[in-house]
Amino acid sequence: MKKILITRRLLRACEDKAEGIFEANLNLNDELYSQQKLVELSEGCDGILSSLTDKLDSETINKLPDSIKIISNFAVGFGNIDLDAANNRGIAVTNTPDVLTDATAEIGILLILGACRRASEGIESARQGGWKWSADYLIGKQLTGSRLGILGMGRIGQKIAKIAKSLGMIIHYHNRSKLSEDKEQGATYHDNLKSLLSVSDVLSVCCPASKETVDMINKETLEYLPKGAVVTNVARGDIIEDEAMIDALDRRKVYAVGLDVYKNEPNLNPGYLKHKSAFILPHLGSATKDTRTAMANLAIDNLDEYFKTGNCKNKVN
Ligand code: NAP
Repeated sequence: MKKILITRRLLRACEDKAEGIFEANLNLNDELYSQQKLVELSEGCDGILSSLTDKLDSETINKLPDSIKIISNFAVGFGNIDLDAANNRGIAVTNTPDVLTDATAEIGILLILGACRRASEGIESARQGGWKWSADYLIGKQLTGSRLGILGMGRIGQKIAKIAKSLGMIIHYHNRSKLSEDKEQGATYHDNLKSLLSVSDVLSVCCPASKETVDMINKETLEYLPKGAVVTNVARGDIIEDEAMIDALDRRKVYAVGLDVYKNEPNLNPGYLKHKSAFILPHLGSATKDTRTAMANLAIDNLDEYFKTGNCKNKVN
């Protein structure tokens, strides 16, 4: 029986599944392991089922025992894992695509609605009481007819586009490569970021965190947006330069932000907390029972497939 380290708690039924297939070292207290502890606990294991809270940088990967052949990440994003270091050690890295697309797109739409329709201020006022309806009370931005720019029109971006279109938004997108017409679904392609941002009344960041995308939304690129644009991020915090974004909110260059993800989670930049127009969530993208179950089962299946065949369809390196 292969031995695996599961670095965080999974839903119980998924831990049972893992224990039925592997000798599984569970984290029953759901402790956030230090990098050193992660290395120590990997001793004698054949694989690791990791989560996005595990920083598997090159230093940590270089210290892993030779017995580790695969890191199966419990997420579609794998920015927490240094792929070059994993390649050098001959360690396969896998992810959990598709199963979380719908749940994450729902949160992507919630961010757009929450930021455009001033949900943070509305919730606070409703809780405090004493608010008075008036014709101009908490007026927000309507989605109908506004242009949605999707940065990273992959699985999640396409699903957000489909829902946003049904809400009357006009879809634009930027990827490094243009999609086929059936995937575009009438959206307009921009071959560069500047061109996309210049038509984005609302921006939805949906691309992965990578060396290329870190701080892609920064002091310079924010200026390409129309004045009073809304910026949402359902992908990864690393893609936005926080100081520049907070400055843009201060100047009203950006009307509102809708954020699910942050640099240095859970310690988001306190500048966001000062802004009533910031609609902020604690990384809830895939947080539904069905989706978390499907993700864990897929992460387990990825390990099983790799151990049995030496390959895996969800291998990313
Ligand atoms: P995906 O299908 O791989 O889509 C990613 C898209 O980004 C692709 O269309 C890709 O197109 C584009 N892209 C990649 N690098 C780019 C670059 N440098 N410039 C412009 N576009 C770029 O991934 P997905 O399943 O939709 O997931 C997207 C991301 O969402 C994940 O990586 C993850 O970080 C995040 N996520 C967050 C949550 C959450 O809880 N909030 C949940 C799930 C996923 P090209 O390759 O043509 O450029």
